[in-house]
Amino acid sequence: MAEHALVFRHVRAIDPGRALDAVVDVVVERGHITRVGVDAGEALLREPRVRVIDRAGAWLLPGLIDLHTHLREPGEEYKEDLASGLAAAAAGGFTAVCAMPNTKLVNDTRAITEMLVHKARAIGGTRLHPIAAITVGRKGEALTEMGDLKSAGAVAVSDDGSCVSSSAVMRRALEYAGTFDLTVIQHAEDHALTAGADMHEGAVSTRLGLRGWPSVAEDVIVARDVLLAEYTRARYHVAHVSTKGAVRILREAKSRGLPVTAEVTPHHLLLTDAALLGYDTACKVNPPLRSEEHVAAVKAGLADGTIDCIATDHAPHSPLEKDCELSQASPGMVGLELCVPLLLGLVHDGTLSLARFVHALTRGPAGVVGLRHEGLREGAAADLTLVDPDAPFVIDPSRFRSKSQNSPFNGRKVKGRVLATLVDGRFAFQDDSLSAERHHE
Ligand SMILES: [Zn+2]
Repeated sequence: MAEHALVFRHVRAIDPGRALDAVVDVVVERGHITRVGVDAGEALLREPRVRVIDRAGAWLLPGLIDLHTHLREPGEEYKEDLASGLAAAAAGGFTAVCAMPNTKLVNDTRAITEMLVHKARAIGGTRLHPIAAITVGRKGEALTEMGDLKSAGAVAVSDDGSCVSSSAVMRRALEYAGTFDLTVIQHAEDHALTAGADMHEGAVSTRLGLRGWPSVAEDVIVARDVLLAEYTRARYHVAHVSTKGAVRILREAKSRGLPVTAEVTPHHLLLTDAALLGYDTACKVNPPLRSEEHVAAVKAGLADGTIDCIATDHAPHSPLEKDCELSQASPGMVGLELCVPLLLGLVHDGTLSLARFVHALTRGPAGVVGLRHEGLREGAAADLTLVDPDAPFVIDPSRFRSKSQNSPFNGRKVKGRVLATLVDGRFAFQDDSLSAERHHE
């Protein structure tokens, strides 16, 4: 039997966009937040069919949004599919994810975008927002039918996995996407500078004798694209920023009011290229893990607002693609279920303020692609994430909802976990401790 109302009792409700950070009750009824305030749920506590969640110390956040997820459907469902990917997203606290188009059948048509939207809706839970390709087949040549893609549900365009190399194509892509108010998301990599690369070019790659991906290969594309965005006045977003140079260029562009935005991944904030010293293929990502100076620069960029959001770049792979030599391994690591616990480490140690952390996973990504974000207020749709910031646990890949387990963080001790994820007032995920509590009522 469904509840009439759900009361979060004495939670710390945090929504930096509304300058909210207070211990209150939050009441959810008929899919919406109906009351927010000190003891606002008290009158309901003894009513029938009211579920009370009373977890002292828990944080209630606006639902988290991931701007950069690879769900592998259609075509590589042995790594992930929409159902497993959306379940992983819900378990990670995400109420919405944006799915990149570099699936085996590239999402460059209305038919595939519509299929994704319909299938995800039937699955329910975490919302799916497709990102469609910029160019047909992600080949970097002919532009896709962006108007069609947008009307089918695409929220942005990207050739992620490949860079739009041609300046002429990028210019036309910005102009064309701009007419439909779609943000162009660039995977910034000058492929001529990175051919055959296995990791960041630097002291560690020299020591290991591996081909390097120089940071300047990201910088030159971001610099060129910022100039093109300035020229076309179109919205431009840089995926997974990883270099000091890119952060500097973006900071300068933003200081002049250009419509440019950027994201950073948890792994580029948390790991350096030294993680490759054991030739661990789980640490092979694209762009690669960088050296200390670059990690410091992306952290500073996230803190000062040069980088608008955190995106997981969740990239599931099976052992087929990872249990092999580093040079043969596919790049990428899973991220949806690890993002919150890993990044809370940066909040706990003071590297990242709580307000920036919440913003970078909610209002930040919503703004980049123009998703509705109502925040934590009375009348808003109840897209909510409940977090226990202090619960210690060990990352255990056998518990992942994702079909894949490729992560260098497996076995790491972390502090803080997602307790529940609500989409439109319905539980898309609840932690074992919450569902157990439920049975005692
Ligand atoms: Zn990419």
